[in-house]
Amino acid sequence: MKITAAVVDQKNADFAIRDDVDLADLGPDDLQVHMVASGICHSDEALRIGDAVIDYPIVLGHEGAGIVEKVGPEVTQFKPGDHVVLSFYACGNCKSCLRGIPTQCENYAKNNLSGTRPDGSAHFTENGHPVADMFDQSSFTTTTVVRERNAVKVDKALDLRMLGPLGCGYVTGSGTVLNTLKPRPGQTIAVFGTGAVGLAAMMAGRISGCTKVIGIDIVDARLDLAKELGATDVINSQNGNVVQAVKDLTGGYGVDFAVDTTGVTSVMEDSIKVLAQGGTSAAIAVTPNHIDVDTWNDLCVDDKKLIGVNMGDSIPQVDIPRLIDFYKMGMFDFDKTEKFYKFSEINEANADSRSGKTIKPVLIIDPAYVPGK
Ligand SMILES: [Zn+2]
Ligand SMILES: [Zn+2]
Repeated sequence: MKITAAVVDQKNADFAIRDDVDLADLGPDDLQVHMVASGICHSDEALRIGDAVIDYPIVLGHEGAGIVEKVGPEVTQFKPGDHVVLSFYACGNCKSCLRGIPTQCENYAKNNLSGTRPDGSAHFTENGHPVADMFDQSSFTTTTVVRERNAVKVDKALDLRMLGPLGCGYVTGSGTVLNTLKPRPGQTIAVFGTGAVGLAAMMAGRISGCTKVIGIDIVDARLDLAKELGATDVINSQNGNVVQAVKDLTGGYGVDFAVDTTGVTSVMEDSIKVLAQGGTSAAIAVTPNHIDVDTWNDLCVDDKKLIGVNMGDSIPQVDIPRLIDFYKMGMFDFDKTEKFYKFSEINEANADSRSGKTIKPVLIIDPAYVPGK
């Protein structure tokens, strides 16, 4: 079937919205999803500009929210009319999936970052030529086809437009804290960067009972929002020595946990230096940058750990409903980071994300959607 999609034709090209894209046929365990809205994530930008590469042309987008239109004959958990948030795809059958760690799915890259459907077929074509997909999802479209395991059912009473980013940015930031670092009440955390991922990590630090949740950025307005959302303290790193400032806020010890969402070399290095003895820093930015680590002096001597975390070690079908519950309790106000744009404004929305003017742009792909219906 023909759909309208935002295509990136080559490295660094703008998004081009075209209505001649063909969507793959519905497979036996697929859902056809009418897209209502999609968040724009920094990973979309990394793929657009070639910091990470799948293939071109490509339909990006992996924070989709929509309504199920059709289901394949083997689908058991969804029916037409269900509201869904889309996330990554895990095979469900490998050892990691069977152990309940779908972010470590042995087929993760093949499923999510190969540009094709899990069976190797094209998700989209244009004039007979294949167009790559992202996360087996590609949400910058009016309609997409996903596997059943890409989807998470959500309450129809919620405003579906704001929920898409739960599928990547918010689950990544919060999952890194709630699933991986697992602070105990009374421990401390510093989060570098106040984008969607960083703010979600801060809110999760607060939910975990951290008594210091230190937000660090270079933009005062964003630090104000960080305070509103859960940071107990904020530091503008342009105003002096961050490492000293974190130590000053923690009785000279440093923090038990740090999360770097910036991918900036000097910041990633600081995220280790701010740790207390025994502390752990999670590096979770999609970045081409490297850091120098002196393993003995920077890590071993103080028993510090530096770890990478993919997608917050999340299980979308478990973690997204949990985040919605925290949202309903007023403990996870992710909607305060969002700004809505028309689908036709995708390039402007992406530029606003890149410049930091908007924390989380959300494209309204179906303007006729009415919340709560
Ligand atoms: Zn993302
Ligand atoms: Zn798997």
